[in-house]
Amino acid sequence: MERRKFIKGITLLPLAASAMNLHELKNITDSFSNTSKMPVFFVGHGSPMNAVEDNSYTRSWSAMGKSVKEKPNAILVVSAHWLTRGTFVSTAPTPETIYDFGGFPDELYKIKYPAPGSPEYAKQVMQLIPEAKEDKEWGLDHGAWVVLKFLFPEAKIPVFQLSIDYYKPLQYHFDLAKRLASLREKGVLIISSGNIVHNLRKFFENPDAKPFEWTVEFDEWVKNRINARDFQSLIDYEKHGASAKLSVPTRDHYIPMIYSLALTDKMEDIHFTNEETIASVSMRAFRIG
Ligand code: ZN
Repeated sequence: MERRKFIKGITLLPLAASAMNLHELKNITDSFSNTSKMPVFFVGHGSPMNAVEDNSYTRSWSAMGKSVKEKPNAILVVSAHWLTRGTFVSTAPTPETIYDFGGFPDELYKIKYPAPGSPEYAKQVMQLIPEAKEDKEWGLDHGAWVVLKFLFPEAKIPVFQLSIDYYKPLQYHFDLAKRLASLREKGVLIISSGNIVHNLRKFFENPDAKPFEWTVEFDEWVKNRINARDFQSLIDYEKHGASAKLSVPTRDHYIPMIYSLALTDKMEDIHFTNEETIASVSMRAFRIG
């Protein structure tokens, strides 16, 4: 009997602990009211020059913005241009427009995206991802503001960013992103911004080249894997071989897509809003939900 009591005692412990965690979690997520489920965007952002151009990409971004029927409470951007050691969340109440590029025309450095920040939702992200640290300085890098300028030109919706820990493997990013899922029902539109194929060295060798064979091959393979909901192959993309190596010479622009995919529910639609490729860059973009 003593033994039975003991066993009962230890089996109850984890239950009590998990009940407490659930209660705590409920308190956290209750602090913001529920909304209908927000979509998730992945945007291939390409050159900063898109900020001042009217082209097929920028027009497709405008259409993506208009496709959001319920106004988001906040926008969380995961950009290829905020790479860190460790994960950070930006809490600046008035984020600066960051010109994190060189050698572009003056007009680009005059553009401002004056959206407010969202310290409240940023803090909620820190509760969902306790290892994420606060960054009070970071504003909006060009992976964020160049596309936001077309998605939501009024710049009224609060925006904040989550950094990419560049020292972690893709599986880590996929698992981390999953923990953000509840934000979709709290009115947070999550946008990841990068490029599935992004080889700038090859691009500058011949910027006017037609899409390379390997650009198209890898981009199409990614599309097919997304359609098959085979995200594990995309995490293990290196196994795809030569075209993967050329398309993803460094992972910075590929990682953001992994964040979007991790937030996809099983039965959710994924709609490709842009499918263009240029030389060694893919401008593919999609909407989840
Ligand atoms: Zn970029």
